[in-house]
Amino acid sequence: MTEHDQLTFCNPVIRFPEITPPRQSQPEPGLDAELIPGTDRGEHSYRGTGRLEGRRALITGADSGIGAAVAIAFAREGADIALNYLPEENEDAEHVAGVIESAGRRAVLLPADLADADACRRVVSEAASELGGLDALVNNAGKQVSVPRLEDLSDEEWTTTFDVNITAIFRITQAALEHLGPGSTIVNTTSVQAYEPSPHLVHYASTKAAINAFSKGMAQQLAPRGIRVNAVAPGPIWTPLQVSAGQPQDALPEFGKSTPLGRAGQPTELAPAFVFLTSPESSYVLGETLNVNGGMPTP
Ligand code: NAD
Ligand code: MG
Repeated sequence: MTEHDQLTFCNPVIRFPEITPPRQSQPEPGLDAELIPGTDRGEHSYRGTGRLEGRRALITGADSGIGAAVAIAFAREGADIALNYLPEENEDAEHVAGVIESAGRRAVLLPADLADADACRRVVSEAASELGGLDALVNNAGKQVSVPRLEDLSDEEWTTTFDVNITAIFRITQAALEHLGPGSTIVNTTSVQAYEPSPHLVHYASTKAAINAFSKGMAQQLAPRGIRVNAVAPGPIWTPLQVSAGQPQDALPEFGKSTPLGRAGQPTELAPAFVFLTSPESSYVLGETLNVNGGMPTP
């Protein structure tokens, strides 16, 4: 690495480009394959050091965005991965599975809609049977649809957002407990929205606050069993969620620019937080929410 490359690599302002995404829209849930500009999920940069050797992980929402970056990092750290996502996201999931297999690890594809109670339980049991057990769970799937006026927020949108974002975490965690032994970990994806709810995301933000409370409560409940529960709270990260109704179209060009770092985050910038909380090196860290948000103040 030249001195100039080294300085760029270390400077968080310029390590990743400041992006100005054009207005664009995709039907929910959106595809990484069609996002402009594309995202960095660590395919060409994440280097593992054996921190998750032999672990067996179930990651929800693992086809794209943050979940894809976590899946790639976990594989390069030595874990086998079961990936859950929606059936219509197969193209993104196949890409991530290819990267996992190139790292010499197993990728098990488990498409299913987590709004469905039985699907949540089935995904867990199939992950455990395909991987020969389960000792790492990342509850990362999430749904975010911008609705500026409460009068326009349908009962269905409210209910499905809660079903996918928090009720599925309850169901998956409950089913996973049958498999998770001492040394296992759970990491839930919450959001800066838990503390700073946007006026157009009250339903989404409410689920993220619930995820924080669920994580902190479960961390205490499971600590005596040797199972650690933590959360990661991303700030504005460039992913398909944002263009599939997650943000008003006009907000896209400015996305992430109001953070102290002045730019949106890339999915791969989240991966080290999940690796840390899943690895035994964080053995005394429980009930923590690790904020990865470009410097936005949090409680
Ligand atoms: P993403 O669209 O790449 O990932 C979200 C994933 O959730 C989808 O790929 C999809 O597989 C999954 N999902 C949605 N509905 C589902 C359903 N009914 N059944 C099963 N899976 C379903 O976007 P992302 O930004 O990487 O989102 C990952 C997590 O990060 C989400 O929980 C999101 O709320 C959270 N988050 C994102 C940001 C951000 O700025 N991108 C900020 C804070 C929190
Ligand atoms: Mg996706």
